[in-house]
Amino acid sequence: MVPMKKFTAKKMRILGIILVLFPMLCRLMTVPVSSNESEVLASIALPKESTVLTEASAADISVTGTTGTLVLDQELLEVPVIKRAYLTFDDGPSPNTDQILDILNLYGVKATFFVNNKEGEENILRYQRIVNEGHTIGLHSSTHIYRQVYQSEQAFVADYLTNQAYIAQITGVTPVIYRFPGGSNNSVSKLDTSVFINILNQNGIPYYDWNAYVGDAVKNIRSAKQLTENALNGCNGKNDVMILLHDLTEKKTTVEALPAIIEGLIERGYVILPIDTSVPSSTPTFHFK
Ligand SMILES: [Zn+2]
Repeated sequence: MVPMKKFTAKKMRILGIILVLFPMLCRLMTVPVSSNESEVLASIALPKESTVLTEASAADISVTGTTGTLVLDQELLEVPVIKRAYLTFDDGPSPNTDQILDILNLYGVKATFFVNNKEGEENILRYQRIVNEGHTIGLHSSTHIYRQVYQSEQAFVADYLTNQAYIAQITGVTPVIYRFPGGSNNSVSKLDTSVFINILNQNGIPYYDWNAYVGDAVKNIRSAKQLTENALNGCNGKNDVMILLHDLTEKKTTVEALPAIIEGLIERGYVILPIDTSVPSSTPTFHFK
């Protein structure tokens, strides 16, 4: 019979060793397990410390893993700039309007027409085509006769309302946006044009000048090639361009130049848009200083 004292002492030593080693072995072998799946997901999704990453700080992140280093490039995080071009046709409608509309349709492009009051069945159909084909129609005075339009504040308001009522009656659309004949900083007005700008501003009427032009306003007719060059050169260095063109009988080279102008704008990365009158702030402001 093994003496109880000896047996107990030996057993106690072994038991003591086991008691010391067992928790250590458990810690080494056991992977902590979260109580449910959502906790696991949360521990993956959230960093240990709540950190808001700005674009700049995110760009500086580099993650080193077992297979290599992932570096986030700042350029990949930058939102591409949207370049916007607005084709605007003044002084129409005219016998050229139909051709202009056909070309715009061919390219699937919408434009803006700042129109005057023109009589005759053919012109009535042209106003209606502009609206029905999804282009924006704006006002450009009823007569375009500077001394009448800019004679006084009252004359300016009366002319605007005559222009507006005429287009509304023909198209069913009441235009609001305005382009000053000669531009908002013209020197043909008897009064300082700030008087008329104030009237528009007080009535919440947006007006648009331009920052590029084809150069078809001069008396000497320029070639389509030259007009195209003028338009595209005028876009250099600009993300948003509003291009002035004219819709008048004698401006035939403007019509001839239009396809090359549209193609040139597309090649340069522009999205061609009409002025958006439903959300005016979505169209950039083009004002002469
Ligand atoms: Zn004009």
